[in-house]
Amino acid sequence: MTVKPTPPVDAWSKPYWTAAQEHRLILQFCPDCQHHVFYPRLYCPHCDGERLAWVEASGRGVVYTFTVVRNNAPSAFSADLPFVIAVVRLAEGVQMMTNIVGCDPAEVYMEMPVEVVFEKLNEAITLPKFRPVNKDSKG
Ligand SMILES: [Zn+2]
Repeated sequence: MTVKPTPPVDAWSKPYWTAAQEHRLILQFCPDCQHHVFYPRLYCPHCDGERLAWVEASGRGVVYTFTVVRNNAPSAFSADLPFVIAVVRLAEGVQMMTNIVGCDPAEVYMEMPVEVVFEKLNEAITLPKFRPVNKDSKG
């Protein structure tokens, strides 16, 4: 059985992955131009500011766009078919590539309200994913 690839953990993205292990979603925030920033970076992409700080995210957003993967070449992801790859626009204004879980892929639609859930991949990586709001109790 093949193993799923894991995201690289850089010095500047390590706080993000550590928070995810604790089931917290954090984003960078630039105090100079007041923009949230995702993915983790060394400098603000809006103003080149160097003072990016970590802040708690709401964990809420909407589906900006998505696709349902129903078939692909044999891989570590085969057991997950069908699954939803989506871009979620968080309330803070940034967008994240992620999966929509906790519902039938046929139920997903653009602008669907979603909230973060956390899926432990291994000892080092827990992935933030999103599920429909009000699908079931928060946990
Ligand atoms: Zn900035």
